[in-house]
Amino acid sequence: MTDKYAVIGNPIAHSKSPLIHRMFAEQTGQDIGYEALLAPLDGFSATVERLRKDGYKGCNVTVPFKFDAFKIATQLTERAQAAQAVNTLKFDGNIILGGNTDGAGMVRDIEHNFRFPLRGRQVLLIGAGGAAYGVALPILQAGAQLALMNRTREKADQFAIYLGKLGHIVAVYDFLNEPGRKQFDLIINATSSGLSDEMPPLPATVFAPGALAYDMMYGRETPFMKFAREQGAAMAADGIGVTDGIGVADGLGMLVEQAAEAFYLWRGVRPDTAPVMARLREVA
Ligand code: NDP
Repeated sequence: MTDKYAVIGNPIAHSKSPLIHRMFAEQTGQDIGYEALLAPLDGFSATVERLRKDGYKGCNVTVPFKFDAFKIATQLTERAQAAQAVNTLKFDGNIILGGNTDGAGMVRDIEHNFRFPLRGRQVLLIGAGGAAYGVALPILQAGAQLALMNRTREKADQFAIYLGKLGHIVAVYDFLNEPGRKQFDLIINATSSGLSDEMPPLPATVFAPGALAYDMMYGRETPFMKFAREQGAAMAADGIGVTDGIGVADGLGMLVEQAAEAFYLWRGVRPDTAPVMARLREVA
């Protein structure tokens, strides 16, 4: 019998998750169905209850329900606990297991697909929303030094305090109000600023030689990605730093890798992500 899964969000029509999971299923020979479900803004738990009653085995959770999913899970993985947000639910009798695969997915994309090892790197994480919380612990666990920055400074400070309670010391940066040169090897834009064609305020000097600029958004070049590309050229030209250019990445790899982690959590089988990413780039 086909095992049923879904992704729940609002909006959801844009989701690439059904396509990704169907490709994973075909590739691994797993007999699963996967659909996108729009839940009313106040109807997340009711939707999950209906799925459980109908025999679904699990679901992915996207904007704006990751915090609701965290609340209804009866068990949490360590990463979901640290992220305070859940993007994957697995149903097993009375147990609703909540996981967060965003961080592991992003770390795998950076280290494996971009061949950019994180150990010992200086990383600037911009944003203090669900996505930033999701990736912070996996970045630290990969051995990088983490600094934070967010438009609303108080939220960055709260985020730093939170990570401090987990035993990690992180710094908070505010380039608008505290000028001064500070360079990072990896700059991650975990804000939704690209949606409004904006970018966080960053000095051109933020990119260390050979840095990687990573935007979690996908589908088009964001102002942050464009800025990074332009600084790469400018920095190389004026001799400040980069000789081998700045790498620029969007969030498509993260999307596919986090889906693969969810697939593994549900099915115990790890799909090959490379052909799926290639296919998505073709149809994008
Ligand atoms: P949230 O709404 O929880 O957080 C939004 C964050 O963006 C806040 O830190 C907010 O700052 C900041 N922000 C919004 N607009 C601006 C702006 N114009 N300038 C500077 N900062 C801004 O969103 P999420 O954390 O859930 O998601 C963030 C992004 O990551 C989204 O674009 C999402 O699509 C993407 N994402 C991609 C994934 C993937 O697999 N590729 C997975 C998860 C998320 P403030 O605190 O000041 O409001």
